[in-house]
Amino acid sequence: METGRILFLTGAFATHAVVGYALVSGFTDADPRLGLAFGLLPDADFLFPGALDWPFVHRGITHTPLFALAVVAGIYAAARDRDLAAAVSLAIGSHLAIDSLSPKGIDWLFPERTGWSPGLAVHSPEATALLWTAAIAILVWRADDYPLVG
Ligand SMILES: [Zn+2]
Repeated sequence: METGRILFLTGAFATHAVVGYALVSGFTDADPRLGLAFGLLPDADFLFPGALDWPFVHRGITHTPLFALAVVAGIYAAARDRDLAAAVSLAIGSHLAIDSLSPKGIDWLFPERTGWSPGLAVHSPEATALLWTAAIAILVWRADDYPLVG
């Protein structure tokens, strides 16, 4: 894999993780590390074997509201914890929201293949700076919960 692609993916993964962390930290009482994990979960599709066809490809089934709903419902059914379900919803939802704005988009109406997108460069340096700034703003806003920081 070329260096530029590696840097792009590293930045994209870090952004999804940081945004998930900030949202879970800012808006739930769940462990914010859940935001890291579930903010990245949709991109686990990079691990699908290359021989598989749609929807088992990058930006396929794991980037759909149906997948998010199934994960959240499964976790809620197992744990019966609304804060945990809210944390997972925010983290996966933020990933889908960001990716849906990108040129490739996501299939909002899966199993229909919609593919519409506004075509924004959501992982450009400018958009990355904007997303990280928003995430840091949420963390600072909640910093009064951490006496050593606030
Ligand atoms: Zn993604």
